[in-house]
Amino acid sequence: MAELKQVAVYGKGGIGKSTTTSNIAAAASHMGLTVLQVGCDPKSDSTTTLLGGKMLPTILNEMRTVGISDETWDKCVVKGYNGVWCSEAGGPRPGAGCAGKGVAVALDLIAQYKIREKLGITFALYDVLGDVVCGGFAQPMRRGYAREIYLITSGELMALYAANNIAKAVSLLVSEGADCAIGGIINNMRNVAGEKELVEDFASILGVPIMAYVPRSELVQKSELERKTVVEAYPESPQAKVYAQLAERIIHNKDRKVAKTMEIDDIIKLLNKHQMLFA
Ligand code: ADP
Ligand code: MG
Repeated sequence: MAELKQVAVYGKGGIGKSTTTSNIAAAASHMGLTVLQVGCDPKSDSTTTLLGGKMLPTILNEMRTVGISDETWDKCVVKGYNGVWCSEAGGPRPGAGCAGKGVAVALDLIAQYKIREKLGITFALYDVLGDVVCGGFAQPMRRGYAREIYLITSGELMALYAANNIAKAVSLLVSEGADCAIGGIINNMRNVAGEKELVEDFASILGVPIMAYVPRSELVQKSELERKTVVEAYPESPQAKVYAQLAERIIHNKDRKVAKTMEIDDIIKLLNKHQMLFA
């Protein structure tokens, strides 16, 4: 069987993880890979544009309501656009439990039931919320599901702050013996002043490469309204080509880095420098 490549996309809530991950998954499915995307965000909407707008029953909700068995997986791992397999970890009931721990439980169940092996997955993508990298959300890294991590950020302070915190978590876990590192940064641009140069500076301080500059594009919203990825709805568009190139780069990337990290004051200084230059 072909080797399995597993990557995790981490970033601040709302930064574009699910949009970008779903487009990478769709593009990768055209490159001959058997793709699985697992949403690891209690929002549970990671895979909707791959499924024509459908919300999947989540693994954690199934566990709570009917319990996990062989039958669970027909409901919770579903084929979407161009054969991409889609699944959502789910989250705790609002006000109860820890979302990060839940994600770890869901990933362990996927492993225990050998879902990736049964489906012959060759490319697995985990779309993980990275606002707080508490012990729970670090579990995909600690347990070896997220050995290769992509940080998604824009040039906005809180997005950079979250990306930096995820890099800090990676350093800590590596010092404790975990096998995880950063494959690169994805700049999902918000069009703030000097954004390209700012994120370039940030990446070079961390010592990790930038895998792609994803332009802000109205085709993302348009395709979302059609309940599709850009790759499906506008396959010939420049935006779809950006996602295809990014997918290609990630699939072939073999380099991983344990990043240096910054302090918040230095991130603010970096922002000030670029905003003064480009205002
Ligand atoms: P996350 O999964 O990180 O919470 P989403 O992927 O759901 O974020 O994206 C949040 C919103 O940002 C979505 O409504 C999406 O339409 C928009 N968005 C993401 N990337 C882009 C982009 N490159 N251009 C335009 N809009 C984008
Ligand atoms: Mg999301």
